[in-house]
Amino acid sequence: MKGRLAIKFGSPYSILCRTSTWIPNVSPCVRSAVSTPNIRHLHARATEYLPSNFPDWTDSQRSVREAISAICSRYTDDYWLERDTEHKFPWELYKDLAANGWLGICLPEKFGGSNLGISEAAVMLQTISESGAGMNGASSVHMNIFGLEPVAKFGTDKQKEQWLVPLIQGKERACFAVTEPNTGLDTLRLQSSARREGDHYILNGSKVFISTAQVAEKALILVRTTPLKDVKKPSQGLSLFYTNLDRSAVQIHEIPKMGRSAVDTNSLSFEEWKVPVEDLVGQEGDGFRMILHGMNAERILVGAEALGIGYAALRRACNYVGERVVFGNPVGKYQGIQHPLAECWMNLESARLVIYLAARLYDEGYVDGEYANAGKYLASEAAFKAAERAIMSHGGMGYAKEYHVERYMREAVLTRIAPVSGEMIKNYIGQRVLGLPKSY
Ligand SMILES: Cc1cc2nc3c(=O)[nH]c(=O)nc-3n(C[C@H](O)[C@H](O)[C@H](O)COP(=O)(O)OP(=O)(O)OC[C@H]3O[C@@H](n4cnc5c(N)ncnc54)[C@H](O)[C@@H]3O)c2cc1C
Repeated sequence: MKGRLAIKFGSPYSILCRTSTWIPNVSPCVRSAVSTPNIRHLHARATEYLPSNFPDWTDSQRSVREAISAICSRYTDDYWLERDTEHKFPWELYKDLAANGWLGICLPEKFGGSNLGISEAAVMLQTISESGAGMNGASSVHMNIFGLEPVAKFGTDKQKEQWLVPLIQGKERACFAVTEPNTGLDTLRLQSSARREGDHYILNGSKVFISTAQVAEKALILVRTTPLKDVKKPSQGLSLFYTNLDRSAVQIHEIPKMGRSAVDTNSLSFEEWKVPVEDLVGQEGDGFRMILHGMNAERILVGAEALGIGYAALRRACNYVGERVVFGNPVGKYQGIQHPLAECWMNLESARLVIYLAARLYDEGYVDGEYANAGKYLASEAAFKAAERAIMSHGGMGYAKEYHVERYMREAVLTRIAPVSGEMIKNYIGQRVLGLPKSY
């Protein structure tokens, strides 16, 4: 069977599989699974392009994988290299996904979405990234997937009809404006403000690193409506708006950056930006709680995108080292090359199991973030390591753009920084799971 390797009968491993006396305490269901020799296959080789038979995926996840693979295989690595080099938004993939109904994968059917879970959305974004599109491809659509979660959950029916439908149809795009230049990860101290004047709020302030603002018509933006000194807790007094990105009031400047250059990232500054009261999402002062709702989903999805980069890098590395002959052997035969790649696969698979556990828990209504955070951390570290090893395994060719792995490494770095850094994830685990004191 192409791309799969059956365990040879008669090998010590097959004996272990078929002889339950070797595993004395094995449960009956494990025993029956291991005693059926023809189901013992490798699930996929790292050299395969977008395999869909991961052992733990559901039928629904497999269907998403196959459908997204069919779309993404039309966009080659050279397409992505060109988009990245020329800083061009990948409109072709974006429109293709919109035309095939994928932009509303997690949004309600009533508004044109598919009402699937984060478990399926993670597969979608992993697959886009793993196809070679990396963060350039995934970032062109991921705001659609998780970004409007607060609107889907807390918006009125009128707002959902007005905002979700054009987003799902690919007629409008949104950016997500939270990060600020002076406060960084300390979101609760953000300084942008809004004051109510009759039928409008007036927004003043600035944001930084806001992706897709060059191509977006809409912004989901978090600002303070009650000054910090007047609230009991810093998490109070922040409000969320979904509104037109009014270019007459908002100055938008693109930030030149290390990678993911097909998708723009910008600084925003705004003075006396008039936003209609109908564009307030949920209750005034309740914005942080609503943003939090989408955060675990976002971490899971960025983790899935990181996994995609990691598997793409590993695929390229394994294919290259299997063919590149130096000192009379394919370099992949040398353990100095082979073993680090084997470690990369194990790291990626471990991260994948945590990401998809986190996704399943999220879909089942679990609200805490230890698995979403841990999965995102493990996936971004594993992706970075895989991309770095892919470069080293290619030797000089790893540094050349035509082999794509340097692009993967630049994009893997981003998944370690955003939407939350590794340090903040460790703070979360340290405080929430280990029960240790907060240092800041
Ligand atoms: C390409 C790109 C796209 C982005 N897109 C968006 C977007 O669309 N919308 C948006 O709102 N934001 C976006 N961001 C912002 C991103 O979410 C932030 O960069 C990220 O959250 C880190 O915040 P910061 O850059 O302000 O780092 P800072 O808060 O300045 O932190 C600097 C360093 O200090 C560490 N640090 C800070 N506090 C602590 C602490 N208490 N303990 C230990 N270490 C600490 C951090 O981990 C980090 O290493 C994007 C960023 C990038 C690079």
